[in-house]
Amino acid sequence: MNDQTIQLKSLEQRDNYTFTIEWSDGQLNDYSLSTLQQHCPCANCTDEQTGKRRAGIKNIENVRAQRIVSVGRYALRVYFTSGCSAGIFSFDMLRNL
Ligand SMILES: [Zn+2]
Repeated sequence: MNDQTIQLKSLEQRDNYTFTIEWSDGQLNDYSLSTLQQHCPCANCTDEQTGKRRAGIKNIENVRAQRIVSVGRYALRVYFTSGCSAGIFSFDMLRNL
């Protein structure tokens, strides 16, 4: 087990569609909300049986975040303007996007 878990150091919203995360190891990553929406793991966006994307979310390029909150010390929850608000993005997943 690796107990040097990566933590989120800071999160900065760059514009309506992008934000930057600085990680505890100093790495900087830019994330676009449309990319996150495409990878959203919640049951509204992904069929849990097949793992396939649902087609329900429209206008993915223009999706924005109403807010982004941290979940414990391991994940972010994004409230998308598309109506999806159940997506929990673990830091591991964000680092691998
Ligand atoms: Zn979702």
